[in-house]
Amino acid sequence: MTRRRWIADSWDEATASLTGEQASHLIRVLRAQPGMEFDIVAGDRVWHAVIAGISGDSVRFNLLAEEKADPALPVTLLLSVFRFERMEWAIEKATELGVERVLPVIARRSEKHLAQSAKTRAERWRRIAREAAKQSRRSDVPVIDDPLPLKTALQQEKQGARLLLAEQERSTTLRHALTEALAASGDQMPLISMAVGPEGGWTAEEEALFDAEGWKPVSLGPRILRAETAAMTAMAVTAALLE
Ligand code: SAM
Repeated sequence: MTRRRWIADSWDEATASLTGEQASHLIRVLRAQPGMEFDIVAGDRVWHAVIAGISGDSVRFNLLAEEKADPALPVTLLLSVFRFERMEWAIEKATELGVERVLPVIARRSEKHLAQSAKTRAERWRRIAREAAKQSRRSDVPVIDDPLPLKTALQQEKQGARLLLAEQERSTTLRHALTEALAASGDQMPLISMAVGPEGGWTAEEEALFDAEGWKPVSLGPRILRAETAAMTAMAVTAALLE
């Protein structure tokens, strides 16, 4: 039986609690009562749980039995800052497709006003990832980092296979690069980072920076995709190959 799933705000080995929006939805919309059973995501574990008590705007659960958890894909998505509603769509889709972490980056062609307000938008992106994690019945919530300038991000992202989604690339496809990373990591899941450019694309200077930092340009095919479509397509291809 599929039970509705919630993401715990606090938990220990035997109990978990919901507060804020989730709790008020449960109390006011779903008319929750002690004894009702749900699934609770606590950290990266999933529990069959029962409501033990409701007080004010907080719902307390007893954790009954641990359920099988499907780990996230070991993928970090460097997502350039672009029009927020489209970027948020991409964050929602990447969450549904199993991304582990999203690092928003400010690229040269990220619009100035968006780059300036990106930091204040990060909390909203985290809420969107949480809702999408619940809806897609994930057993964890992807990490959404605070936005960073591209150069700073590339100085810190040094692990695993690093793939630059480049619309001009013609020789190496993402599928090919992922197959190589899989073969190179033996039976371990390869760590993968993928970078998606803004609507105006990467500048030649940025492509040189990626190259200097050891990122491999990869293609998603001959057509120019919108940034949000490229993000979703890259996650779908990766999920298809790794899951
Ligand atoms: N600068 C491009 C143009 O107008 O010609 C468009 C950039 S595209 C809207 C935004 C980003 O999506 C690109 O920087 C790239 O990261 C990714 N992208 C789009 N189509 C792609 C493709 N066919 N292969 C690889 N990446 C692609």
